[in-house]
Amino acid sequence: FEPWNEPAAKPLIQFQNVTKRFGEFTAIDNLSLDIYEREFFALLGPSGCGKTTMMRMLGGFETPTEGKILLGGQDIAPVPPNKRPVNMMFQSYALFPHLTVYDNIAFGLKRSDMPKSEIAGRVEEMLKLTRLGKFAGRKPHQISGGQRQRVALARALAKAPKLLLLDEPLGALDKKLRTETQFELMDIQERTGTTFVIVTHDQEEAMTVASRIAVMNDGLLVQVDTPGRIYETPNSTYVADFIGDVNIIEGTAQPAGEGAYTVAWAEGQPALSVQSATELGAGDRCFFAIRPEKVAISAEKPADRPNAVQGKILDIAYLGNISTYHVELPGGVIIKAQTANDRRISRRSFTWEDSVWLSWTATAGVLLAN
Ligand code: ATP
Repeated sequence: FEPWNEPAAKPLIQFQNVTKRFGEFTAIDNLSLDIYEREFFALLGPSGCGKTTMMRMLGGFETPTEGKILLGGQDIAPVPPNKRPVNMMFQSYALFPHLTVYDNIAFGLKRSDMPKSEIAGRVEEMLKLTRLGKFAGRKPHQISGGQRQRVALARALAKAPKLLLLDEPLGALDKKLRTETQFELMDIQERTGTTFVIVTHDQEEAMTVASRIAVMNDGLLVQVDTPGRIYETPNSTYVADFIGDVNIIEGTAQPAGEGAYTVAWAEGQPALSVQSATELGAGDRCFFAIRPEKVAISAEKPADRPNAVQGKILDIAYLGNISTYHVELPGGVIIKAQTANDRRISRRSFTWEDSVWLSWTATAGVLLAN
């Protein structure tokens, strides 16, 4: 299910060959990217890859050294931060402690040129949107962490920005509240139709909330795509490894026609059979990436699968709904296989030291050049 329908989308933000240098250091390197209207877009990458710099350029707190950023087709370079239809949601501790929820939300509106008569209506609308009506008269310390987060969101959306920037907005929340708040963010984004750009280094968060994800490394975009395509068809081992759990097997490719390849990868092991969209030449070094849940585990060798290897169970991680097995092959390669713990479908379970077969189809993984 891919709710994001690209052909219908209209760009709100366009980075055009943007480079940002700090002295000698290049933080953003000739980057081009469109972010669409009504989109929930995530910038994902390790610390120092340039995510915050991208946000600061959108907010107007940094200017590109080269290139342009357009908003609705207009270059935003000459527009100062407070004149941009852009707002930033801060973590909840940025609320004013001495003001009520109502006054926190009204704060920015009172300082704008919005007529007083309109402010009350707008605040009411925001209270309703974030389900904070009952708490309007309370101070931040009299409400829960999740409610404070919603006040911060209401305050950021009060002036109806075209673009809302969220820099690690949920970092201070515990795991459970974080997950709940992610769903609230998605719901509110959908209802307001505001474009949201979130920065996170939490890949699960990006997968949950975003219509599209940009995976960054060293000031470059490595892959920009829907969560589903990033997960199913990563363009590099960097992306495969960054998003979710993966097995990566290095080998040598041999084209077998019509996108089929065999991959030699270890002494004494049969070559892998892979159907792949990546074009590789005979003898090219390559990487086969396969998610643990695509690797089946069985006691007997399956007759109908083109790839089957035998090994011994080293470790089992039981997580309730799923179990992950670490299986060591002769020669020392370890492969992770994951199974659903559903009594209706799993016929048996395995234990340490069991000798098992791991198998997968030709289309279960992807072949990558780097
Ligand atoms: P994190 O997840 O840790 O916040 P990030 O991906 O947001 O990291 P940025 O804050 O965008 O990374 O920084 C990108 C790079 O640019 C880093 O190497 C950082 O040290 C450098 N950098 C950022 N701002 C400045 C500055 N004002 N002067 C010099 N270097 C800077």
